Amino acid sequence: MSAAPVNDPNMRKLFPLRQRTGTAAFHLSRNAVGMGFDDLNLLTERQAVMLLAEAQWGSTTYMPCPHCGTLDKHYWSGKERRWKCKCCDKRFSVTSGTPYADHKLPLTKLIKMVFTWINGASGKPALQLRRDWNVAYPTAFTLAHKLREGLLRGFNVGVLAGVHEMDGADMNGRRYREKRNRPQGGGGGPKPTVPAHLLKPKVDPETGEIMGPPKPPKYDKKARMPLDRRLLLVIRQRSVSKGKGAVATRVAVALSESTATVTTMASRFASSESAIMSDEDPSYASFSRLFAEHRTVNHSKAFSMPGGVSNNQAESFNWRMRRLVEGIYLGPSNKYLADYAAEAAWREDTRRLSTGKKLRHILGVTLRVGLSEWWRGYTHGHHRDVELLVEGEQTANTRGRKKGWKPKPPR
Ligand SMILES: [Zn+2]
Repeated sequence: MSAAPVNDPNMRKLFPLRQRTGTAAFHLSRNAVGMGFDDLNLLTERQAVMLLAEAQWGSTTYMPCPHCGTLDKHYWSGKERRWKCKCCDKRFSVTSGTPYADHKLPLTKLIKMVFTWINGASGKPALQLRRDWNVAYPTAFTLAHKLREGLLRGFNVGVLAGVHEMDGADMNGRRYREKRNRPQGGGGGPKPTVPAHLLKPKVDPETGEIMGPPKPPKYDKKARMPLDRRLLLVIRQRSVSKGKGAVATRVAVALSESTATVTTMASRFASSESAIMSDEDPSYASFSRLFAEHRTVNHSKAFSMPGGVSNNQAESFNWRMRRLVEGIYLGPSNKYLADYAAEAAWREDTRRLSTGKKLRHILGVTLRVGLSEWWRGYTHGHHRDVELLVEGEQTANTRGRKKGWKPKPPR
């Protein structure tokens, strides 16, 4: 008996047993993997410099000098693996003026560590990086955070235009999993103030009963909200081609989902010509005035309303972010929550890039943000002491010793 030919149309119906679509089909396709460790192991130190140069400047010969900014074909020294500026005569390497400046690891190892970091589907813990690469924990930790900083400052920026979906999700802090607007037990938050004009009691004209002041919206929720709970706000742009999901994501962390925070976030990242879809939370009420279109989905009735109105892409991001926070990083501190959110956004937006393209993309984005503002000298005690919120920077509660801590002098 001869085997059936591979391209027999009857055989093709049987396999694969389950037709995979969307991103799942991409991950199983040949296009998902463009580079592996075998390729990176062949990389010499010089080729590593050229890979970073290509990612940063799009060229290995023509680049701006980080000291004076002159764009030229600067002198290359193969021995030093550095360039000498044609204008100011200063020398610079491929990592000068980037978050990787003064790196101690060989560039080949640094690139391989970045490669392992990006290949985790929903994150890669620093401890795992450390075990994989036999480096000190602070090395792995600061590298991962420099990547996050690069993504937050270089990727989570810019205004989107098109059809957006927006949503908020309770993300961190005590009891954040409790059902929205139905808190259980008491919290430590300050009670919201009732506006003075509402405090005047009114007399019901029919019954003559005195009616008390009405509660402002979300009174119960806000009054009982634990102080360390944070809200993740996300805006996602829908792809114009059907079935391709979202193409761009912007994130921010806020203390609460209020008209002020939601509007600040939306006007920072969405153009006024955009159409925004959200749920029926009252904080989005002013959107129909601020943007070209605002449609809402009533979640108590359906996941999606007629006419394609839904914010399921935004909800799906929130779910993945929760998986990252709970499953991989095991409760990151509020102080760095925005950084982790930027990482989740990048992983989402590059989900259909091959491994090689992803590596070049993250290197390009992070190399172009300049020196690291928050992680330079971290192991020497230079820490960022603020939490980045939509409401503005706020002094963060750190988990370590207070600033200015000194050991007690011996008696
Ligand atoms: Zn120069």
